[in-house]
Amino acid sequence: MTSLARQFGRHDSYTPDALHVDLGRQLILDTVRPITGSERLPLCSALGRVLAETILSPIDVPAHDNSAMDGYGLRADDLATDGDTTLEIAGTALAGQPFEQRLQPGQCVRIMTGARVPAGVDTVVMQEVARAAAGQVTLPPGQRKGQNIRRAGEDLRAGTPALPAGRLIRPAELGLIASLGIGNVAVRRRLRVAFFSTGDEIVSIGSAAREGQIYDSNRYTLFGMLTRLGFDVIDIGVVRDDPHTLETTLRDAATRADAIITSGGVSVGEADFTRDVMARLGEVLFWKIAMKPGRPLAFGRIGKLDGEGDGGAWLFGLPGNPVAAMVAFYQFARPALLRLAGVDPVAEPPLLQVGCTQAIRKAPGRTEFLRGVLFRDGTDWKVRTTGPQGSGLLSSMADANCFIVLGQIQGNVAAGDLVQVQVLDGIV
Ligand code: AMP
Ligand code: MG
Repeated sequence: MTSLARQFGRHDSYTPDALHVDLGRQLILDTVRPITGSERLPLCSALGRVLAETILSPIDVPAHDNSAMDGYGLRADDLATDGDTTLEIAGTALAGQPFEQRLQPGQCVRIMTGARVPAGVDTVVMQEVARAAAGQVTLPPGQRKGQNIRRAGEDLRAGTPALPAGRLIRPAELGLIASLGIGNVAVRRRLRVAFFSTGDEIVSIGSAAREGQIYDSNRYTLFGMLTRLGFDVIDIGVVRDDPHTLETTLRDAATRADAIITSGGVSVGEADFTRDVMARLGEVLFWKIAMKPGRPLAFGRIGKLDGEGDGGAWLFGLPGNPVAAMVAFYQFARPALLRLAGVDPVAEPPLLQVGCTQAIRKAPGRTEFLRGVLFRDGTDWKVRTTGPQGSGLLSSMADANCFIVLGQIQGNVAAGDLVQVQVLDGIV
């Protein structure tokens, strides 16, 4: 028995009980180990990459006490305990142009947002409540010592972690790193992912599809999904349903990639020869997942288990049906590939509860991922399906902006019921 099979016990080779989606995802996540290579890049080139180092702040942020408001900086001791206070305006502090003297009793300084707080000033009163005339300003009572001042180091203290290793660098991270004055960062090298389609009936665009043949779409959805995740992609093309070709293709792909994604050839009818080939090359498990679409799934390793640098690669065998391949990619391959790429922690996509405007027939027993459209209805957001849900209908994915996720034990949905949705597009 292989070590993966031992690790997963009865969850090997289409055991009669299908595997729960969450368990399958967790088993895979617990098995894969991040790649270790890294490189140092100029900040802007690091967008979409994964931090390989913890970023410690070299400075206090903000670097100095500064004003949170446009107004007047003063000494709280000068404020009358009841009634108005009138102070002499001794000068101006602008962001980038500090007021250099120490404030004397009875004085205040006109101060703008972001300006360094001058020596002696401990309180800022906002300009909206002040009345200024002839070099003086009158301020109402009720001010609090220390108000409207952002303290040095309030956001980050020098020497403390600003960002953890494993963080995906998005625009906010770029800005935060820049705010520390840091111009380059260590990131993980890009994950290399090879992919190919299997099937004697599959032809690539560019050649004419003859009777009984269909154009390959899985390589294009995979190209898109992998590229969006920031990986280096290696498109290996279409591979015939022939054990020898499959074997040499997998062997070659494993020397070039950290992970290999195949589509097709893992359904119960076809799996036997795929399984034989994969068993010769490494340790691959064949699972029946309790889900719709996307039921058959293969996962394992070509080459030795756990051996980065051994010329091996993790393998994800997705079902051939185009929608099933996408759903299985998002639910199983995506989190595992992010983990491989070094993302830590790998966040689960949020499941939101939304009212469904239509009835949906659903038998308990497996998790269903329907393609849905979230839409605005007055002030509420609601969801409906995209229409026909066949696992070959890519238009259902193209028209969708969310998955409607109906849990394993759930039965029929009535119009108006709350359902869970997973949003496909984010804004960042
Ligand atoms: P399989 O999982 O190989 O049994 O394929 C299941 C269904 O998906 C069959 O109807 C295949 O023709 C179709 N299919 C498999 N691979 C692809 C592909 N790359 N592009 C489009 N359809 C595919
Ligand atoms: Mg096939």
